[in-house]
Amino acid sequence: TLVYLIRVVFPSMKEEAVRLSYTDDLTGIYNHRFFIEQLTLEVERQRRYSTPLSLLMIDIDYFKHYNDTNGHLAGDQVLKAIAILIQRGVRQSDIVARYGGEEFSAILINARREKALEIAERVRRNVADTRFPNESAQPNKDITVSVGVATSYAPISKLTDLIREADHALYRAKKNGRNRVEG
Ligand code: GH3
Ligand code: MG
Ligand code: MG
Repeated sequence: TLVYLIRVVFPSMKEEAVRLSYTDDLTGIYNHRFFIEQLTLEVERQRRYSTPLSLLMIDIDYFKHYNDTNGHLAGDQVLKAIAILIQRGVRQSDIVARYGGEEFSAILINARREKALEIAERVRRNVADTRFPNESAQPNKDITVSVGVATSYAPISKLTDLIREADHALYRAKKNGRNRVEG
């Protein structure tokens, strides 16, 4: 049994610890730490191979209202469901993470601007078309997301520039009425 513990259980405990360090507890998708690590790698890769790289910043609309009306446990269920919807909307090779709070990010590898806008629109529509409990009590009678899109063509800007650009696009999506994609 001691040999079993050392050979089998200890290594798998380590793997589990590594997995947890990259995972968001609530949604089970990647966390902010992993997102930054992967974006750093992709930015490096782009520097060498000159491939386009796109980034989505996705923010749930009027989410504070949903929590205030339905409670945080109901809000948590919405966060989980939206994490799944975003993963379904992107491509297999793309990386979806919870950026923080009710914000998600997606790294779209080798995606030009047109492709990124198309994927963002698919995510937006998937969320808008999904029925959530008591969503009719929301200010816009629906649970929706706003999406900001940024694309970088080589030679790439800094990682922080790409995040900032996606953030600005997200801000425009909010200002222009929410449930929108801007980029
Ligand atoms: P906007 O349309 O401008 O994005 O409005 P908003 O209400 O979504 O934005 P605001 O930043 O005012 O509120 C974000 C809310 O997200 C408030 C916070 O309680 C909620 N939130 C963040 N993380 C979690 C979480 O893990 N679970 C739940 N239930 N709510 C969360
Ligand atoms: Mg927010
Ligand atoms: Mg929000």
